[in-house]
Amino acid sequence: MQVKICETSYNIETKVDNLLAVLGHIKQTQNNSLAFGSGCRSGICGSCAVVVNGVEKLACKTTIKDNDEVTPLKNLPVIKDLVVDNSKQHKLLKIANAQLQELSDEKISNADVDKIDKESNCILCNSCYSSCPVYEVNDKFLSPFALTRAYRYIEDKKEKDVKSIIDNIQDNGVFSCTLCGNCNMVCPAGIDIKGDIMKLQNKSVQFGHTNPNFATFDTGMDFGFNP
Ligand code: SF4
Ligand code: SF4
Repeated sequence: MQVKICETSYNIETKVDNLLAVLGHIKQTQNNSLAFGSGCRSGICGSCAVVVNGVEKLACKTTIKDNDEVTPLKNLPVIKDLVVDNSKQHKLLKIANAQLQELSDEKISNADVDKIDKESNCILCNSCYSSCPVYEVNDKFLSPFALTRAYRYIEDKKEKDVKSIIDNIQDNGVFSCTLCGNCNMVCPAGIDIKGDIMKLQNKSVQFGHTNPNFATFDTGMDFGFNP
């Protein structure tokens, strides 16, 4: 089997077809300086996300085939080979301030926990950043992850100050998303990021924000609605 890893082709003579195992095999037998992320090896830690034939995947959960091409996650600075710098994401999270603002006294039921269970189970793999066409052209965009995190807190009954979270995600935020759904397709945790952003847009309107993409203009025509 032949695979291309970051512009270099490797001939692999092994029956193993799990991508993370193949990367380990290449490192042991052909290129001991090959750099890639690896942690739990069971799809939980999110540290082995890469791009396979243009689509974000967890290496530990991916079966590789002849002529596959493996490249690092997109839209993130590459440190070496398949390892990317994800420090920017922490800064975006901070700007979005997507965390508990003010603790309420509300009692939490199992149903309340279920409502934000998926969002709470993000594995921080960064695949959504890599797939997002808005983040690709606007690195100030708060990003799929920060927005789905914001949603997790506005739906949390323990959050008393929902307005402050909503106010914080307006600049380069909730209305900058084109709702393309790419992030949903690659998220290994199955989070409906696009759906969360749509709900955040609705909530933003409820709190008095407007979608800046809907420009108001005067047509100069009289439709007879004026008093
Ligand atoms: S739905 Fe929005 S956040 Fe998700 S990839 Fe598309 S533009 Fe980015
Ligand atoms: S939201 Fe999904 S794709 Fe984005 S970092 Fe979390 S698990 Fe990965």
